[in-house]
Amino acid sequence: MKNKILIVMLCVGPVLFSCKNAEETRIETSGPEVVDFRLLPFELKDVTLLEGRFKKGVELNEKILLNYEPDRLLAGFRREAGLPQKAEIYGGWESATLAGHSLGHYLSACSMMYQTTGNEEFLKRARYIVDELEIVQNAHGDGYIGAMEGGKKVFEEEVAQGIIRSAGFDLNGIWAPFYTHHKVLAGLRDAYQLLGIEKALDIAVKFSDWIYEIIDDLDYDTRQDMLRCEYGGMNEVMADIYGLTGNEKYLEMSRLFHDNFVIDSLAAGIDVLPGKHGNTNIPKAIGLARRYELTGDQTDRKTAEFFWDRVVHYHSYVTGGNGFREYFGPAGKLRDRLGPNTTESCNVYNMLKLTDHLFTWEGEAEKADFYERALFNHIMAHQHPETGEVVYNLSLDMGGRKAYQNPFHFTCCIGTGMESHAKYNGHIFYHNNEELFVSQFIAAELNWEEKGLILRQETAYPEDQGTSLEFKLEQPLKLTLQIRYPSWAEKGMEVRVNGRRIRVKEKPGSFVAVSRTWKDGDRVEVKIPFTLRLETMPDDENRIAVFYGPVVLAGDLGPANDPKVHEPLYVPVFVSDHRNPAEWMEPVKGEVNTFMTRDLGYPRDVKMKPFYQTHDRRYSIYWDLYTTEAWEKEKEAYEAELERIKQLEESTIDYFQPGEMQPERDHQFDGEHTRPERFRDRPARTATGGWFAFDLEVDPEVPNALVVEYWGGGYRRNRIFDILVNDVKLAKEDITSPVGNIYIHKQYDIPEELTAGKTKIRVKFEAEDNNIVGPVFGVRSIKK
Ligand SMILES: [Zn+2]
Repeated sequence: MKNKILIVMLCVGPVLFSCKNAEETRIETSGPEVVDFRLLPFELKDVTLLEGRFKKGVELNEKILLNYEPDRLLAGFRREAGLPQKAEIYGGWESATLAGHSLGHYLSACSMMYQTTGNEEFLKRARYIVDELEIVQNAHGDGYIGAMEGGKKVFEEEVAQGIIRSAGFDLNGIWAPFYTHHKVLAGLRDAYQLLGIEKALDIAVKFSDWIYEIIDDLDYDTRQDMLRCEYGGMNEVMADIYGLTGNEKYLEMSRLFHDNFVIDSLAAGIDVLPGKHGNTNIPKAIGLARRYELTGDQTDRKTAEFFWDRVVHYHSYVTGGNGFREYFGPAGKLRDRLGPNTTESCNVYNMLKLTDHLFTWEGEAEKADFYERALFNHIMAHQHPETGEVVYNLSLDMGGRKAYQNPFHFTCCIGTGMESHAKYNGHIFYHNNEELFVSQFIAAELNWEEKGLILRQETAYPEDQGTSLEFKLEQPLKLTLQIRYPSWAEKGMEVRVNGRRIRVKEKPGSFVAVSRTWKDGDRVEVKIPFTLRLETMPDDENRIAVFYGPVVLAGDLGPANDPKVHEPLYVPVFVSDHRNPAEWMEPVKGEVNTFMTRDLGYPRDVKMKPFYQTHDRRYSIYWDLYTTEAWEKEKEAYEAELERIKQLEESTIDYFQPGEMQPERDHQFDGEHTRPERFRDRPARTATGGWFAFDLEVDPEVPNALVVEYWGGGYRRNRIFDILVNDVKLAKEDITSPVGNIYIHKQYDIPEELTAGKTKIRVKFEAEDNNIVGPVFGVRSIKK
């Protein structure tokens, strides 16, 4: 059902004015979408980035992308098709059963980068990859393409027959295969849509048909079992293929990738996200958003909006990132979820994709504000400004540092990083027939060919507190310019047209409309004075972060390898009877957006500068703020608790997190009759009448001990089990009886003969008879 387009221009006339009460204009796309939009983005090729941090970000990404060898990304695809490999397979997750996901991202990134930079090499590479995938598909002869070892056989002989095995993070022994299929299909879609490579769509359709044969006959319950394993954005890419072909079969497929345990609960308005894996679930919401655009299904739309609202308002940190060790926690409880493994970059990449869909529907400034928050405070912050390397989990640890990844150690975040830094230009300007929206303040030139308009935005924002826009026109153009008025702009926004100040009636958190007949050479100057302000944890108003305008400030604590990092109060506390940071901080001369705290930090003051400019340093984003009186009371207890945690951390040689995919892989996890658990939204593992085992590093030079974390609240069924090291029994444990509703640490000394000459031990938890092991929340090896 197509809604009619409202073309309304109530604001006309020769004089300047702010067009506040104009009836909203909307736009239809020329594509397959059946709903109308408040605004639409421009194509990447229509917007050229000008000199500045964002252009630099693209250039860094360009260098990394051109260093990859397509034949190495394709090697697994050829091997699985029985074709000779042209090059060696890459390492990282490309050498595991997630193989192939990087090629999908790479094909998407090359497609975007050709539009963004015009570099022909990207077009050449995308064409080559598509040609190679065609050869691979022809060699299989049935539509399949894949690089996961033995993946096709597992699908045909097991999954298609309704045999579903999953230990929580894999499907019949293959690591999240639909996640990878989604990436490959999305790469083909982008090569078709952005580069016009026709056969990319043919290959994607044939591959989708092969997938259809696998899943079509599965009964509902079996399919739900299958969907318990991460399936990426299969619902999104199937909807897209429906949109591109008009064939309803793919719309049906999009709906087959629909789980009842997350999506249906969200559709009913229930936030089931606590305890769920972040990046498994965000793509599902993107799929719903896309399907709404292609079908008008209001349930899909509402579910996607509900998801966005819950993640942004209840599960996100000040940087716009979400997730602690990749998982959502209890709603609105973030205070104690800080550590090195917060805010996976894929989650932000995907939340920005979702935000962009929602923004186009109603043009709400709230969505553009969130885009700015996450773009400046996560995406820009996670790319190293010299090497272009990106961070997987962007640490919000108090005293943390950024852990950049080797671009050749392929992970999910290396993949999404390839795309995140290829498409900034797609999110700056938006339009409908009558209006041009300036959503992000990034130096760029828009070529709106249809209107004969070139709009040049010049700014070093957020190093400038504003922006300027210059119109280049062949002939005068009647148009409403909509400039984002950020919600944080508490000192207002000043807009001048050709030097003449216009009256801004709008409030922060909206768009300022300037309607007029624009002429060649017209200039708009925008000033948005920054202020210092606090943002707090939702569950603790005294754990705070400091913003200056759009950017969160990080306190610079020392070099990344600072030996003092384990000292108590390495991260100072803030002590003040005021809550206005303007009273605590002084600008540092000659350093833009940089401040020094003044008589605030205990035991020392700190230099605060934008997080996106903080690299190769120890930092904190969050701080504990005390009044003078409260600090006097807290000081002793605070220092004692810090000391206890520091001592445990300091003596830790290796830490194993049971129940989470990546740590389990890293520690060669194995087990029988065991499963991952969540308790109070913390990951753990149990084994009922079974066992689990993993490797742990030790220090052969000193006496070692194991420290295991359990829940002390007691259990109804017996929890008696043995702990073994290298098959030697270390202890018999019984955690059945309650000792209090707290987490408890138990220490087990390891006899020195078990660690002598070794750097690694095998730790095993084994149930006694039909008892249950655990739940075990964490295991660390420590120096005694
Ligand atoms: Zn990731």
